[in-house]
Amino acid sequence: MTTVSAYAATSATGPLTKTTITRRAVGPHDVRFDIIFAGICHSDIHTVRGEWGQPSYPVVPGHEIAGIVTEIGSAVTRYKVGDHVGVGCFVDSCRKCKNCQAGLEQYCTGGGNVGTYNAVGRDGEPTQGGYSGSIVVDENYVLRIPESLPLDAAAPLLCAGITTFSPLKHWKAGPETRVAVIGLGGLGHMAVKLAAAMGAEVTVLSQSLKKMEDGLRLGAKNYYATSDRDTFKNLRNSFDLVLNTVSANLDLGRYLQMVDLDGVFVELGAPENPLVVPPFSIIGMRRSIAGSVIGGIAETQEMLDFCAKHGIASEVEVIQPDYINEAYERVIASDVRYRFVIDTESLRDA
Ligand code: NAP
Ligand code: ZN
Ligand code: ZN
Repeated sequence: MTTVSAYAATSATGPLTKTTITRRAVGPHDVRFDIIFAGICHSDIHTVRGEWGQPSYPVVPGHEIAGIVTEIGSAVTRYKVGDHVGVGCFVDSCRKCKNCQAGLEQYCTGGGNVGTYNAVGRDGEPTQGGYSGSIVVDENYVLRIPESLPLDAAAPLLCAGITTFSPLKHWKAGPETRVAVIGLGGLGHMAVKLAAAMGAEVTVLSQSLKKMEDGLRLGAKNYYATSDRDTFKNLRNSFDLVLNTVSANLDLGRYLQMVDLDGVFVELGAPENPLVVPPFSIIGMRRSIAGSVIGGIAETQEMLDFCAKHGIASEVEVIQPDYINEAYERVIASDVRYRFVIDTESLRDA
């Protein structure tokens, strides 16, 4: 076992504070790596603040983890010391159910996948995430980060990247597809970049026009403010695929009207309260509402390789760990361009 520093939440209302945690000894199939950068996902905030139910405190959040391998187990074949690697939202799964067998570990039905934090690992110990100095993970749940991607900009790909890549692929975004992205935050800005790289015509629907220049630079063709009521009137039946990345509850009926005949509205955001869907907002144009959660290991690797090929990564603001609490407030205020990434160097030794 090794001891490393970390930032943990101990209650729903208090700040995250510096602490120490232990990482298990490297087993035959394990990889240990120094965490170099960890992204701050809005899911970290929902979790530690109890918006998805009471977590098991203390919680060390962080599931957008990028680092460099320092030790490998005796049976490890995929990685060697010095490799650039990442870990996303889960660190294990049953490996036997039909979904795991199909590389869809995010939909594991054999007890569910093991979350990177706020879960219990196969060893019976609570899992703790990326706001820390190092981590030990089974090699089958570790991703290879292509050398051409800087580790800070690559970290958010492990959640924000795959969460948007997976539905874009599943619903076949391409040159014929009109894609709308609601919310230009961590997920949203990756959705714009990825959909544009797939050749889709991308429209951003943001609360205001404040980030318009950025949205167009990231690859959107159109950009509208949802604070302008004309936006909803003018964009009726305009999209084949809508990705909703908003962390709060929206007046969904108005947004659903923007989906064209047989189009799909994909809910990616996970706000605290249930979604309210007025029936006529989906009956009218044979619209579908769907959901999607992160992606499997193979697809996450495919996404990382796609990003390297297209020269895509996240736009990040690198911060020190003592800024985490302020960063949380800024994420909630939609005041981040477009992902906070923690430089974890100071957490490496405890
Ligand atoms: P984020 O960086 O905070 O982005 C959310 C964006 O939503 C904001 O930038 C803002 O965009 C918009 N927004 C926020 N509050 C709003 C409001 N009250 N009304 C309208 N728009 C609002 O969050 P994120 O990390 O991208 O995560 C987004 C959501 O996805 C969270 O609920 C998170 O838990 C969830 N998530 C789901 C998965 C999955 O697998 N499905 C994976 C990761 C995260 P504008 O300023 O442009 O309006
Ligand atoms: Zn996330
Ligand atoms: Zn499974």
